[in-house]
Parts: sequence; C-alpha cells; structure tokens
Amino acid sequence: MLIETLSVFPEMFEPVMSTSILGRARSAGIFDFHAYDLRDWTHDRHRTVDDAPFGGGQGMLMKAPPIFEAVRSIASEGTCPHIIFFTPCGEPFKQDVAERLAGYERLLFVCGRYEGMDERAYELADERLSIGDYVLTGGELAAMVVTDAVVRLLPGALGDELSSVDESFSTAEGGGLLEYAQYTRPAEFEGNEVPPVLLSGDHAKVARWRRRNAIERTCRWRPDLIPAAELTDEERLYAEELLRRYHEDERIE
Ligand code: SAH
Repeated sequence: MLIETLSVFPEMFEPVMSTSILGRARSAGIFDFHAYDLRDWTHDRHRTVDDAPFGGGQGMLMKAPPIFEAVRSIASEGTCPHIIFFTPCGEPFKQDVAERLAGYERLLFVCGRYEGMDERAYELADERLSIGDYVLTGGELAAMVVTDAVVRLLPGALGDELSSVDESFSTAEGGGLLEYAQYTRPAEFEGNEVPPVLLSGDHAKVARWRRRNAIERTCRWRPDLIPAAELTDEERLYAEELLRRYHEDERIE
C-alpha cells in the first residue's frame, strides 16, 4: 500500500512513520509513505496557501487553487489514489472504516490547517473523515492516527496475524465488543490477584471467561456498542440483563 499526505507541515510525519510497528512495516515494504508540501504548488514569492474568508469572520482559510493543482498532479501518476480530506465535519473514523481503507492500494490524505478549507476544495475528496468530536489545529495528526490504525491491519504488519482480529471494535466474527481484560506476571500484585481461571491452563474455560468479560466491559463502558455487536441469542440475553442491572445501579447511586 502507498500512503501519501498533502499538508503544509510535511516534516511532522517522519518520526511516526519510521518508529516501531509502522517503521518496521515500512522497511519491510508492507507500506510506503510520502509527505507532500502543499506550498510546492504555490506560485507567489510568499508561497501563500491561505486567505481571508468571504463574508468576514475570524482566521484564515486554505485556498482552493493550490489544493486542486497539487491533488491533480499527485493523482495523475501511478494508480489512482483514494482521496480523503480531514475535517471535523467528516464521517467519524471507526475501526470498520480502518478495515475498509486497508483494502486500497493507494491512499492520499489531505490535511487542513487554520480555520479549514474553501468548501470547493472538498470536490476532490472521495470521502471526508473526522477522527472525533473535537477540533485539532491541523489534519496531520488525524492522518497519522488513520495511517496507524490502517497499517496495523495490513497482512504481516503485526507479525502475529491473529492479533488484530481478537481486538476491541474488530468486525471479525463475534466482534464489535471491547477487548477482555488481560494480565501478566506477577499473578498477585499488592494483594490483587488475577482471575484464577486464567492460570488454569484450560483453554476452553479461558475462552469462555474472556468472552463474558468482553461483554461485561462493553455493557459497563460502551453500552452504545451492544446493539451492533455480534452476539449469540444467549449472549444477547446476558448483555440485556447486565445493561438493566447497570442502569438500575446508576439510578440507586
Ligand atoms: N473551522 C473548522 C475546524 C478547522 S481545524 C470547523 O469548525 O469545523 C483545521 C484543520 O484541522 C481542519 O481543516 C482539519 O483538516 C483538521 N482537523 C481538526 N479537527 C479534526 C478532526 N476532529 N478530525 C479530522 N481532522 C481535523
């Protein structure tokens, strides 16, 4: 996969793209990365990419022409990229979106700054994504978040092929839940013991405990995920019982 970014701060990306799993995946050729500088497509002495908004108001907006010129020139060579613009007004970025994006051969991320972009620039977008209901100073961090979430799904990136299946939010079979609680040595820490079943060596029992624990944690912390989670009839009854119980506890508190 080829991932490219277009922004006014291309230097922000390199440390993230060359560290840890992303760095290893990149060296191994699982993905390639390139950051373009939008100012390379300006034609004035000051390399201007922004201007004041029509109609007044605070701050500056990114101008449409350099973005059009840059995206057209980048996209004209090689495989046609899937083009994503980052904006708080975009579709919320979730694990299922990461799974979908992992299927593209080439992604181009366009990152805003200032008060955002001239609305006409979005005509270039195949989609608009938001990484959450808050406002960042620029789209670069959003591009890094999405790159990280997508690359770790690519075959070989994590080493252990299974490790991205059995995780929070995964849409794989039985998925859509938060991950179960995990523990490592020591078995007892400051009087706090790990659940004994995990030390039993009984794999079927461990799997059952983990499944129940994942349902319990999701009901407690992210009840909004339960309706879309893949549960058996029995598990759904259990989840509904837990949700009722947690709801009643809240009323008592
Ligand atoms: N005025 C805009 C915010 C602009 S923030 C508004 O109120 O909607 C500047 C840039 O940061 C945006 O163009 C976008 O690329 C990026 N950005 C900010 N918050 C973001 C978020 N939650 N998700 C993705 N990108 C974001």
